[in-house]
Amino acid sequence: MARSYVAEARRRGLGTRRERIGPIVERLAREHADATIALRFESDVELLISVMLSAQTTDVNVNRVTEQLFRKYRRPEDYLAVPVEELERDVYATGFFRQKAKSIRGAMRVLIEEFDGEVPRTLEELTRLPGVARKTANVVASELGETQGVVVDTHVRRLSQRLGLTRQEDPVKIERDLIKLVPREYWGVFPHLLIWHGRRVCLARRPRCEECVLNALCPASRV
Ligand code: SF4
Repeated sequence: MARSYVAEARRRGLGTRRERIGPIVERLAREHADATIALRFESDVELLISVMLSAQTTDVNVNRVTEQLFRKYRRPEDYLAVPVEELERDVYATGFFRQKAKSIRGAMRVLIEEFDGEVPRTLEELTRLPGVARKTANVVASELGETQGVVVDTHVRRLSQRLGLTRQEDPVKIERDLIKLVPREYWGVFPHLLIWHGRRVCLARRPRCEECVLNALCPASRV
């Protein structure tokens, strides 16, 4: 399906990906000037924990859990000072609680032992933390002002495909395409723009093409 939208853009005479990416970014930036990360955190460690907890759940749900969590656990050491079952209970509502509690404790241990308790800045270092894969590392680095890639989540994947920006299905390959296409200064904000557009307009089941600012640039547009 993704493949057909790249070809469809050509068929509809919408221009190449390179020609369309500038106007796409510009229109999205105007439409979603408030697009930013929806997770709530007040420190680098809280950011890291929030992003780790956000796997397979909504940001709203994570915020609900972390409101209590961050009052109780203030430093990396605090996550190791309680029995694992207690941490599991405290992150239970985010789902996959056993795995998440284990990853958080592993990450906090490495943070303390190898990074003096500070969240590292590079993808290479971040992905050394247990439970931190490329997507989590990308989100954290980007929020810390050290963008080194393009975050690909479910919205970014769906919209990149619909907009005919990639033929790929695999997030790593989609990121590779977007890195080549999107100007570097937009790597950080571009995923937020697609995520907000995906939540507000380009919904998974019923995209609202009639009211979409991208409809003249989109090969999947139904109008
Ligand atoms: S035109 Fe439709 S399919 Fe294309 S981005 Fe907008 S809402 Fe999504």
